[in-house]
Amino acid sequence: MMKTDVHEILIDLDKKHFIHPTSSLKQQNESGATFIFTSGEGVYLTDTSGKRVLEGMASLWNVNVGYGRKELAEAAYDQMTKLAFTNSFSSMSNEPAIRLASKLAELAPGNLNAVFFTSGGSESNDTAYKLARYYWKLKGHAEKKKIISQKKGYHGVNIGATSATGISPFHSLTNSHAPDFVHVDTFSLDSLRECIKREGANHIAAFITEPVQGAGGVNIAPEGYLQEVRKICDENNILLIVDEVITGFGRTGKMFACEHYGVTPDLMLFAKGVTSGYIPLGGVMVTDTIHQELIDLSEGVLLHGYTYSGHATACAVGLKNIEIIENENLVENSRIMGEELLNGFKSLQMEFDFIGEVRTLGLIGAIEMVNPETNERFDTLIAPRVSAEAAKRGLIVRTVGFEGMDTVVFSPPLIINKQEIHELISILREALIAVQ
Ligand code: PLP
Repeated sequence: MMKTDVHEILIDLDKKHFIHPTSSLKQQNESGATFIFTSGEGVYLTDTSGKRVLEGMASLWNVNVGYGRKELAEAAYDQMTKLAFTNSFSSMSNEPAIRLASKLAELAPGNLNAVFFTSGGSESNDTAYKLARYYWKLKGHAEKKKIISQKKGYHGVNIGATSATGISPFHSLTNSHAPDFVHVDTFSLDSLRECIKREGANHIAAFITEPVQGAGGVNIAPEGYLQEVRKICDENNILLIVDEVITGFGRTGKMFACEHYGVTPDLMLFAKGVTSGYIPLGGVMVTDTIHQELIDLSEGVLLHGYTYSGHATACAVGLKNIEIIENENLVENSRIMGEELLNGFKSLQMEFDFIGEVRTLGLIGAIEMVNPETNERFDTLIAPRVSAEAAKRGLIVRTVGFEGMDTVVFSPPLIINKQEIHELISILREALIAVQ
């Protein structure tokens, strides 16, 4: 069978049977999948037609160690042939979960030393909201239920995570968000203070923030913001949850982004980069203080657990992935290559008058498209055209086009080198010329 025949067959089956997540169902039905990938190596992916593309997004901000890592496949193989899975309910345990939990405790800031495992970011968010409410209930404050989150924040797609998400188009499937979720302005201390005054601290369980908003357009918390939030939360007996689902495991040039601000949250969420996407895994870390209070005050069974909480194979892959991040100094590489990426963005900013602000923190970054005459975005968005032209030329990027933004975002694998950054910038330049 010809290679192209296989491609056509797959496109057809894909249209008929595969409902794609966060995709235009109409577009997929009309045009078929944009790419059907068959293999990956380093920062590159190859599709059914043999086309090779540079992954400027590390897929969904998560393939931190790059593609084709045999060590991770071997870690999964070794664990699967020994003990693929056993549940962790009723106090049963397994070695990879125990070892990964203690490794995470070593890496996480401050006294975040205990982990509740999930299979991804959305589950981590819903778990955190439930733990925060449960914590206050155990302490005799069952009325402290509200979860405050930020506009443009993204926390996932379960009912709780959707409700905390502050990007309104994501609420379209639920018609409304769940009760007891309130949104404040992005990185605004005044808005947070005003919200606490209005809702009453005695009704608020937690405030959740991403140190760098990812899906909301790579918006980096300004220096001093998170430190002040920590104070406000302490003064008002509100738990601080930091969502490090994108920013964890080196993405921003530190192991966790809250280290940039010297802040330890009460709960810290992770997923994505913990296994570099080789297998689903996520979790919620809590401080010793919260852990101890939960132990001391709870009675009976903690009735929250996923079948796959503490999945042995996922945890074995997580351990090996962290070993790679440490042995190959990928956190430092993220910081250094992030500067290279920023230099590239700045050179494009000089060349194209419709590039507004450019920003990076480690290897997460964004360039804004603005009309130079008005300093506002154009009536017709430019970023999706840049992304399409880049894809044609062998570079994958994503775009953000809601909440007044017209932004191209970047998050390449942390193994990327200088030459590959230059290739990324050079393809991006060609794409910008094409839409000019
Ligand atoms: N939190 C943040 C900050 C995210 O970026 C995401 C996904 O992109 C999630 C939570 C949800 O994670 P998942 O898609 O693994 O459920």
